[in-house]
Amino acid sequence: MIALLVSSAGTYLISNSFFKDYASLFRNNREFITYLSPSNGIAAALSWYKHERTANLPLIRFGEDARQSAAHLTGKPTLTLLVVGETTRAQDVGLGGYTRQTTPLLAKDNVIYYPNTLSCGTSTAVSVPCMFSGMGHDHYNDALANHREGLLDIVQRAGVNVLWRENDGGCKGACARVPTEEMTAQNLPGMCIDGECYDQVLFHHLQGYIDKQTGNTLIVLHTIGSHGPTYNHRYPDAFKYYTPTCETNEVQHCSTEQLVNTYDNTIRYMDAMVDQGIQLLQANSQRFTTSLVYLSDHGESLGEDGVYFHGLPYMIAPIQQKHVPLLIWLSQDYQQRYAVNQKCMVDQAKLMHTSQDNLFPTVLGLFGVQTREYQPQLDLLTHCRGKAREY
Ligand SMILES: [Zn+2]
Repeated sequence: MIALLVSSAGTYLISNSFFKDYASLFRNNREFITYLSPSNGIAAALSWYKHERTANLPLIRFGEDARQSAAHLTGKPTLTLLVVGETTRAQDVGLGGYTRQTTPLLAKDNVIYYPNTLSCGTSTAVSVPCMFSGMGHDHYNDALANHREGLLDIVQRAGVNVLWRENDGGCKGACARVPTEEMTAQNLPGMCIDGECYDQVLFHHLQGYIDKQTGNTLIVLHTIGSHGPTYNHRYPDAFKYYTPTCETNEVQHCSTEQLVNTYDNTIRYMDAMVDQGIQLLQANSQRFTTSLVYLSDHGESLGEDGVYFHGLPYMIAPIQQKHVPLLIWLSQDYQQRYAVNQKCMVDQAKLMHTSQDNLFPTVLGLFGVQTREYQPQLDLLTHCRGKAREY
């Protein structure tokens, strides 16, 4: 095992030295990575074995005791949007103090931003199932996550209507047993090109779905966000705020300025999408008590120390791949009805060290779902509940 680690580290260091030249090649031809790795045979065998071993295992139920509290089952229903980001790193987010204001719309939306948030993994395949699993980073087990219920099963069991809208190539098991809409399959003109769609597609006819809901509802929007290498394909021309941009997937041929400009344009688009989510919730505030959570799955390297993209082993991955944006928006109605103090939330957020581990209990808490799997100390609202007046 030690020999394996040493040789893997060696391969990493060697490949890293030439990474700028090969990064785009790796991204577009993933099998090249396994050719280069001395552990590729072992890794492939382990992966196959793990898949075979867990593929037909029976589903383990989780949070079977889940119930919504009476306070959440009377009066107006609750409507929450959970926006799952893709490859959006915290370093380039204006809300977090980036010198460029890449989030001008959200800056005016009274959101609660958590500037010190870490991801569970450095890839979608780890972070997305992890954040919905309830295991947390330290205890995450992908084989178990594969065949155990997660956050959406629990919320659904408690009586919440759940819908997952997909624009990022799959939910990695997180939405396996809830209603799902694959937005790219609709191939909508003006929004989709060659099987990829701008995240705007996630709002297509969403109002129609909301109109049909009479109970508490959770809608998850899985965005393609800032995914490379074609960062320039993530936003329409109207979002080309920063120029010159990188107009190729061979990012090593672009200057740092071009690359960062293009990436930052994707953040401007994310800003507009999350803001649109808040506007949608406000437009439905007569019928629903509303809230929104945004959390990116992992970050991205943009050539710092010669490293590009994401997916390096967590222990050695640079902070840019692990430091992610997290924000919460609570309508006035939500704050008053559940006695959550906005100023308390904002003040705490600045100081807290948060992570994707906070998502599971926070979403349970937003819907008042009571279960033994709920850990109130990790629910981001816990310490600001019941402080509507005295804070
Ligand atoms: Zn991802």
